[in-house]
Amino acid sequence: MEASPLNAALLLLTLAAEPSGGPRMHRQDAPLPPRPPTDALAAPIRPHALGQNTTLYVNFEGVELTECNPSDSRRDCSWYNFEQPFPPFSGTIQTQVGVLQAMRSDVADYGIRVTAQRPESGNYTMVVYGGTEAEYGALGSAPAGDCDDEVPNQIAFAHLDGELSEWVNGGATTALHEAAHSWGLDHIDAEGSIMFPSGNNSPTYFRDECDLMVEDTDLNPGQASCPEVNMAHCGDSSRQNAAARLTRLFGPAYVDMQAPTVELLEPRDGQYFQAPANFDVVFETNDDQHPQAYSVWAWLGDEPRPADDSVRVDPGFSVTDLPIGTWEFHVVVADEAGNETEVDFTIEVGEDPPPDPATDEGCGCRGGRSPGALGWICVPLALARRRRWG
Ligand SMILES: [Zn+2]
Repeated sequence: MEASPLNAALLLLTLAAEPSGGPRMHRQDAPLPPRPPTDALAAPIRPHALGQNTTLYVNFEGVELTECNPSDSRRDCSWYNFEQPFPPFSGTIQTQVGVLQAMRSDVADYGIRVTAQRPESGNYTMVVYGGTEAEYGALGSAPAGDCDDEVPNQIAFAHLDGELSEWVNGGATTALHEAAHSWGLDHIDAEGSIMFPSGNNSPTYFRDECDLMVEDTDLNPGQASCPEVNMAHCGDSSRQNAAARLTRLFGPAYVDMQAPTVELLEPRDGQYFQAPANFDVVFETNDDQHPQAYSVWAWLGDEPRPADDSVRVDPGFSVTDLPIGTWEFHVVVADEAGNETEVDFTIEVGEDPPPDPATDEGCGCRGGRSPGALGWICVPLALARRRRWG
C-alpha cells in the first residue's frame, strides 16, 4: 500500500488515541483539599451496623451541595466540591440503566442495593454522577478511611459527563470505586479490578484476593487505611481483600423481593376510541432498584400469556389499528430479579367518534344503562387533553 499523506495522518491519529495498543488509562481520583474541622452542628449520625445491607444511591439528576463536614447525602452537603452546582447528567437513560446494571452485577454478592432514586429514609451513600473529567482532573473522588462505615451517609463523585457520557463499564467502575473509598477501601495493584488507581471503559470487578495496597497511579506501596481489618482478612496489614471487606460491611447478597409498582397513566381504563384505534399505553413504574431493564409481557383477553418478554427501560408500548370491540389488556411487568406485577385494563373501540367533552360538560358518562354494551361507556372529560408520547 502506498503511503499517502492522508494515510500517514490517520496513523498518527490512531497512535495518539491508543498510545500503548489499548485504551488510554484515566486517573480514578482527583486529590482532595485539606479536610476542615468536624462540623459541630452536623446532623446526628447513626453508624452503620457491620454486616447490614446498605443503599448506594447514584444521583444522575444534578445537585447543588452546601458545605459541611462530614459530608451528608441526606442533606446534600460536603466538605469539598460544593463551590458550584452539578448539572444533571447529560447521558441517555439507556446509558444510566446500563451503568446501574453493571454496578448491580459487580456487587451482586454483597448486601448493596443500587438505585437511582433517592431513598426517603435511612442511611445511604450518594454518588454524584456529574461533571466532567476535564473539569475535575480525574474520573472521580471520594473521602477515604472510614473502615467500619461509621459515617454511612458520605458523598462520592463520578465525573463521567462530557466526552465520557457514553461510558457504561467505566461509569460503573468509577461509581463503585469512589463509593468503596467512602467505605474505607484502598487502591490495590491489580489492574482490571475496581480498586485499581486508574481505569478505562473495560469491565472490572471486586477481587476476592489479598492484593497489595498501593497509594498512587505509579503503584507505590503506601500506608493502608484499615491495617487491622487487612490483618484479620489477609494476615498482612498491607494487603486488602475487597470481597471480604464488602461482606464484612454489608453482609451477603441483597435480595430483591419487592415487585415493581405499575400505574396506568394512559389510556384510562375503559376509555373509548374510534376504530381503528391508535394509542400509546403509558405507565408510571417504580421499584426498589429503579430505573432498570424491565421485562414486559402484554396480551389480550383470553389469549395465553406470551412466552417471550420484551425488555425495556419504559414498560409502555403503542397500540395500532385496534378494530371495533371490547378489548381486555393484560400487562405483566417484572423487575430484574423477576418480581412481577400485573396491570389489567379495558379499551372500547367503536364506529363513532368519541363524544366532544365540551358539549357534555358536567357529565363524565353518557349513553344507556346496559353494562357491557357500547352505550355504557364512561367518557372522562380529560379525553381531549390526551398528550402525544414520542
Ligand atoms: Zn481511588
